[in-house]
Amino acid sequence: MTESRAGERVTESFIDGKSVSSAATYPNIDPSTGAAIGDVARSGGDEIDQAVTAARRAQREWRATTPEQRSGLLSRLAGLIDGETEALARLESEDSGKPLSQARNDARVCARYFRFYSHVIESYYGLSIPLRPDLHVYTRREPLGVTGHIVAWNYPMQLFGRAVAAAVATGNCAVLKPADETPRTAVRLARLAAEAGLPPGVVNVVTGLGPEAGAALAAHPGVDHLSFVGSTEVGTLIAGAAARRVVPATLELGGKSAHLVFGDADVERAATTAASAILQNAGQTCSAGSRLLVDERVHEEMLQRIADRFATVSIGPGVTDPDLGPLVSRKQQDRVRGYVESATGADIVCGGTVAEPDGITDGAYFTPTLIDGVDPAARIAQEEIFGPVITVTPFSTEEEAVALANGTDYALIGAVWTRDLGRAHRVAAQVDGGQIFVNTYGAGGGVELPFGGFRKSGYGREKGIEALDAYTATKTIVVQL
Ligand code: NAD
Repeated sequence: MTESRAGERVTESFIDGKSVSSAATYPNIDPSTGAAIGDVARSGGDEIDQAVTAARRAQREWRATTPEQRSGLLSRLAGLIDGETEALARLESEDSGKPLSQARNDARVCARYFRFYSHVIESYYGLSIPLRPDLHVYTRREPLGVTGHIVAWNYPMQLFGRAVAAAVATGNCAVLKPADETPRTAVRLARLAAEAGLPPGVVNVVTGLGPEAGAALAAHPGVDHLSFVGSTEVGTLIAGAAARRVVPATLELGGKSAHLVFGDADVERAATTAASAILQNAGQTCSAGSRLLVDERVHEEMLQRIADRFATVSIGPGVTDPDLGPLVSRKQQDRVRGYVESATGADIVCGGTVAEPDGITDGAYFTPTLIDGVDPAARIAQEEIFGPVITVTPFSTEEEAVALANGTDYALIGAVWTRDLGRAHRVAAQVDGGQIFVNTYGAGGGVELPFGGFRKSGYGREKGIEALDAYTATKTIVVQL
């Protein structure tokens, strides 16, 4: 962040260890108030090219560092992030509207990614293959080169950590384009990486708009891997760009994840968990449990309990740390309202309206919303709403519940609520998704847990040890003895 000549605050790209300005800027809007809180460098193809060139140059030496050296630097970076939790959380809360305590947690999780990959990289080995006595055969996991990361605005710090930590731990150099709405923590984290001693060019952040800086990064011939978090529409463009240059891609494109609550479940726990999972980050979580599929026998009780919880929710600006902050933008607010208005024929049990807490008329707030009797084929039951909205559909048999759960194009995560151990494992195996929880729900977080989807939720896995495979390729070496 520097002061521009006009005195306003400008968030600039961070490339090759330095701040880089751009000819144009765009305003950074705080969705809690609708006010501009500064400007952001509107970088494009030139800055992307500078960043990829710097990353390519840095990678020649970075790939030759030992796991121990990389581990030490990543661990130092984790410590620096921990030391700046408060400052990072405030930037994130202002950019995204996220309640402060959730933003603090995101900063901690970001640090944990760097610490986790600093540990596991030291025990990430190739194999020895006993092919023949006269041949010595072994494999090496080699970095891909320059990795390009285009991330969303919903968990900017966590997404930075999970992508960049795994990429640089394995010897790649990274160029990240943060979401248009949430650029500041990414730039700050890249500065901290430099402060921790990561050489210039290893971690670069280029701010800007999706169709400009994002598209330029996706299309750049010097990028060897693309990772993307965002909408299915843009994910398709990224996959196309990767395919045209024959580079691998990891896509995380959201979900329509379901809670399957059976009649024998601990209903109180299921209701409390489902309510807090959709309140978190105002429901703008790819793994939000936005569909409630509930056994007819406990349908009324679940509705009542969730509605009771929603009635007590505090709503306000992220920096005041309420239960529910605003959505990320007025655009997102319009989108959520549009979905709710499309739910004709369903019963809005509570919510369903925009909110104006403390008389703030320009914020992007939406009340927690519960919609019952939703037709499983309706748009609100099929498409990602990305707001504090739960749709409810009752079921009467296990088969019906599984069919409903699998009845969307998405397949990211899911939860089974039951006291029947056999049913828990049976249904967990049958529901499509990259993570299935039983009698609990883990929206976001989960540094150690491989994460990713099936079908339109995307492909590839990030997080956990599996991410190391995503950012490397196997080389097999055969030596005649
Ligand atoms: P988006 O897909 O447009 O943006 C995600 C990222 O892609 C941002 O960094 C953006 O700048 C970039 N981008 C946009 N257009 C691009 C292009 N042509 N080329 C390269 N990069 C580009 O998402 P959005 O418009 O911010 O949100 C729309 C919907 O997407 C949401 O309502 C939600 O349903 C979904 N979404 C999902 C996730 C998730 O976690 N999977 C995150 C954010 C949004």
